[in-house]
Amino acid sequence: LNDVALQKKGGAEARVAATPETVAGYVKDGHVVTVAKGAGARADYSDDLYKAAGAKIATTNLTAVKDADLVLSVNGGTEKLLASLKSGAGITGVLSPTDNPKYAAACAKAGVTAYALDYIPRISRAQAMDVLSSQSNLSGYRSVVEAGGIYGRAFPMMMTAAGTIAPAKVFIMGVGVAGLQAIATARRLGAVTTATDVRPATKEQVASLGAKFIAVENEEFKAAETAGGYAKQMSAEYQALQAELTAKHIAKQDIVITTALIPGRAAPVLVTKAMLGNMRPGSVLIDLAVERGGNVEGAKPGEIVTTDNGVHIVGHLNWPSRMAADASNMFARNIKNFLPLVTAEDGAYAPDWDDEIIKGCALTKDGEVVHERLTS
Ligand code: NAD
Repeated sequence: LNDVALQKKGGAEARVAATPETVAGYVKDGHVVTVAKGAGARADYSDDLYKAAGAKIATTNLTAVKDADLVLSVNGGTEKLLASLKSGAGITGVLSPTDNPKYAAACAKAGVTAYALDYIPRISRAQAMDVLSSQSNLSGYRSVVEAGGIYGRAFPMMMTAAGTIAPAKVFIMGVGVAGLQAIATARRLGAVTTATDVRPATKEQVASLGAKFIAVENEEFKAAETAGGYAKQMSAEYQALQAELTAKHIAKQDIVITTALIPGRAAPVLVTKAMLGNMRPGSVLIDLAVERGGNVEGAKPGEIVTTDNGVHIVGHLNWPSRMAADASNMFARNIKNFLPLVTAEDGAYAPDWDDEIIKGCALTKDGEVVHERLTS
């Protein structure tokens, strides 16, 4: 699909859910592939490349999906698009079902089975299909590169005839997939890197990347990870201790990347206006959690805000779309790895309803919303 038409609140989507590489594989496997005109243009994939890979090009999204058994998209389609799909067809994408329950209802109404790739269970077998990880990894990388572009100084220490440049101090808050890649990237660029998280397992991961771990390591910290590997909501007492530690540390930092999320809740506020007031002019904060309410007080979705004391707070949305070519490559391969779960041996569209990955990500079936997170 050409998701440029889908104008999310963060602007047009530049990624595409199938690349010439994955299309060529689908065609080789006997599938008939139709690509909407211009779908890959902003990810550097022209219609000609898709044609050369064996795809047909449809002039619009609506004509592209008309005869499809399965629609591959980045963000799902509009309700109008769902109505043009055959009843019984499937659609895959990052559907954000919890934020957007109306979408599942619209799929049910259209008799379409919606596969929310963002609900794929994080089990080992599903790692190759995990779009959240593949895209967060790139967001983490890009956040550091972008911070470097805004920051008016260098990352590495430089000893030159004109004098010495001190290395940048970079602090990463939240060491999930994005945070780990942000640490690795900051280190590669020569920054003095520190990181924090509430999950104890991250301490070793931070050290293994050559960064220093900073956290309130009390009893609550030791029990802060859920069985699923996610963070728990921390108590008010813990948050106060964490804020005290952060306030002291952040005053000495040049670049702060925040990535802290708690499933099903608003992002925790980790950096307050008072803390920002103690940072030096020219410091850069990148709030990767801004779409979920933000980790930084004053961060604005889709904007760069500069505080009175000259600190830049970056609230860009849809980071993976900023590196659409690689993000599309990863996304398309994730979908390719998912496809065997919804196709029979002869290649026909036939979801395996006994598979726990399908049960975990299918929102609708036979005209009903079936996912337990939406029905309970
Ligand atoms: P996420 O996006 O949900 O959160 C980002 C990070 O923020 C997490 O590390 C979390 O602990 C941290 N955080 C939350 N509250 C915080 C606070 N108050 N202060 C500081 N940090 C805070 O995380 P994610 O990237 O989705 O990764 C979550 C977990 O899932 C990790 O353990 C990761 O290794 C695991 N994972 C497993 C698989 C798999 O097995 N297939 C795939 C991807 C990720």
